[in-house]
Amino acid sequence: MEVQKGRLLVVYHEDFARHGFTILRDRLAPAFYELKSKGYLERPGVRVLEPVPVEEKWVRKVHAADHIEGVKHSGYYEVALLSAGGVIQGAEEVVLDRVDSCFCFVGAAGHHASRDGFWGFCYLNDVAIAVEYLKKQHGLKKFAIIDIDPHYGDGTRDILGPDPGVMHVNFCSGYSRGGSSQGLNNHDFALPYNAGDQEFLSWVDRAIELVYGFPHELLFIIFGHDNHRDDYGSFELTEEFYPEFARRIRAKFPSRVCYVLSGGSNPRVAKAAIGGVVEVLSSP
Ligand SMILES: [Zn+2]
Repeated sequence: MEVQKGRLLVVYHEDFARHGFTILRDRLAPAFYELKSKGYLERPGVRVLEPVPVEEKWVRKVHAADHIEGVKHSGYYEVALLSAGGVIQGAEEVVLDRVDSCFCFVGAAGHHASRDGFWGFCYLNDVAIAVEYLKKQHGLKKFAIIDIDPHYGDGTRDILGPDPGVMHVNFCSGYSRGGSSQGLNNHDFALPYNAGDQEFLSWVDRAIELVYGFPHELLFIIFGHDNHRDDYGSFELTEEFYPEFARRIRAKFPSRVCYVLSGGSNPRVAKAAIGGVVEVLSSP
């Protein structure tokens, strides 16, 4: 019997909220239970996956030994392994065509974790580890990344920027522009601090065009809602931005998309932002 392809996989583990990085974790359970109470997780074609930690051998392919030792001393190693495991397992379901897209909750963020350094609530670069895993285990070669967290994704650029098989489109606010390697398939969109929904969305359209013109096998969205006006990053986005963002992405990329949660701490914003995206992704 042929199994019908799912529409959306939501990756969540209670340990993200229990043991995640302090500033990031209080939003997690409220956002997840909001998805439940709205009924999105009961919609046809929607599944929830509880991940297991990634094996350390995959982490070692991406991060230096000193980096890993440092993360072990941070107290967040276990939850970072679980977060990266969730991104890998979500992305794998997408590339195996069992589901159109996934939304991965995490307990620690990833985009400031470079090969040999970490800061800014990030410990292991979940997306870079997933890219490494999918290359080795599934033979994938081409990836696209759109990072809408307002802080510069320096770790992702450090690890994946030199890879000609990766396009990295990185949103950031003017002050956090990192200035690291442009060129190849790397694009930095440095917007003014007070950028609102319409200005941001006009750049989203440019990002979509760039990524559409770059043949790829999987698109990652690094999804930080710290770009909301009531969260701790810059930008003046409102709750209406998030479902509109997801609609525009889905219209051009109806499948093979993996959302990975990034910055944000305000539970009310998280409920609206994540809820808005999952509402769109779980709709027929
Ligand atoms: Zn951020």
